[in-house]
Amino acid sequence: LAKLHGKGSYRLFDRQMHVAMLNRLTLENDLQRALKQQEFVTYYQPIVNLLTRKIIGFEALVRWRSPGRGMVLPGEFIPSMETTGLIVPIGLVILKQACRQLHTWHQGGWTDLTMSVNLSARQFASSTLLADIDAILAETGVDPTSLKLEITETVIMDNAEIAIALTKALRSRQIQISIDDFGTGYSSLGYLHRFPVDSLKIDRSFIDQTQSENINYHVVETIVALSKQLGLSVIAEGIEIPQQLEWLQQLGCDFGQGYLFSKPLPASESSRFVASSLGYPRRSGNVGHRNLLQQ
Ligand code: C2E
Ligand code: MG
Ligand code: MG
Ligand code: MG
Repeated sequence: LAKLHGKGSYRLFDRQMHVAMLNRLTLENDLQRALKQQEFVTYYQPIVNLLTRKIIGFEALVRWRSPGRGMVLPGEFIPSMETTGLIVPIGLVILKQACRQLHTWHQGGWTDLTMSVNLSARQFASSTLLADIDAILAETGVDPTSLKLEITETVIMDNAEIAIALTKALRSRQIQISIDDFGTGYSSLGYLHRFPVDSLKIDRSFIDQTQSENINYHVVETIVALSKQLGLSVIAEGIEIPQQLEWLQQLGCDFGQGYLFSKPLPASESSRFVASSLGYPRRSGNVGHRNLLQQ
């Protein structure tokens, strides 16, 4: 019986592996096709000055508008694109879309807006990255000083040599660099001195007060103090409720983004958001972007 059972469970395991592998191959195949069919769209989430409540810029966030799967979030396909390397060409598509959009806004008179774009490990290690960025900036006419690239500390630490050379090269072009998901990677902060970065983005998990309130509060307090000491600006992500906004402001956190201000929006809606809001909140309470747009 034990033998039979063992054999059966082995078969079940085998089958599950097979299904998982098929799913993976199907996803990879779909992603290849999606790139050709131009199914990747860029959404934009406003980044707000917490003191003046004015929008200072946007973060570009990729979405996959799949005919079969519906709207797919990056968490479901970025890991696969990392392993296959597809993230490199798709990342360039996103960067170009984001720069085009930024240029449109600049031409429309919102000349101070910045655009933040995420760079993953694979993109970071791409030997053509700098040339690709140069080409996109030249083609879209975007001023490099208004472009910010977001890189996680894990990516920086895992590729220290490349990271030093690359951050210097980006700096010499006056492109800004943010460390994304700050606080989630390494406990050593020594590396900060070795890389010329402009800002730290505090990970959403620390802004969430439902989890171990006190610890999070002190982590955020420490990161804000650290950024001041290093002369960096600091951005909090995942601000969802007014209380979070209040304590971040009290701590002296410069900038923030989150559902309290707006979810990531398609290009047309983000244009309307800038046009109609520039200044939050007009009244207290948890008003989403709809309220702001309807004013
Ligand atoms: P990230 O760069 O840390 O981006 C912030 C994520 O937090 C976004 O998720 C955003 O929608 C979400 N977020 C912002 N405010 C709130 C909030 O108040 N509450 C909640 N619950 N979530 C909030 P998203 O768009 O699903 O992206 C997830 C991650 O995928 C990003 O994390 C980034 O690492 C990666 N990613 C997204 N777009 C790109 C891209 O174009 N290229 C690369 N390489 N990675 C990307
Ligand atoms: Mg980011
Ligand atoms: Mg982040
Ligand atoms: Mg994050």
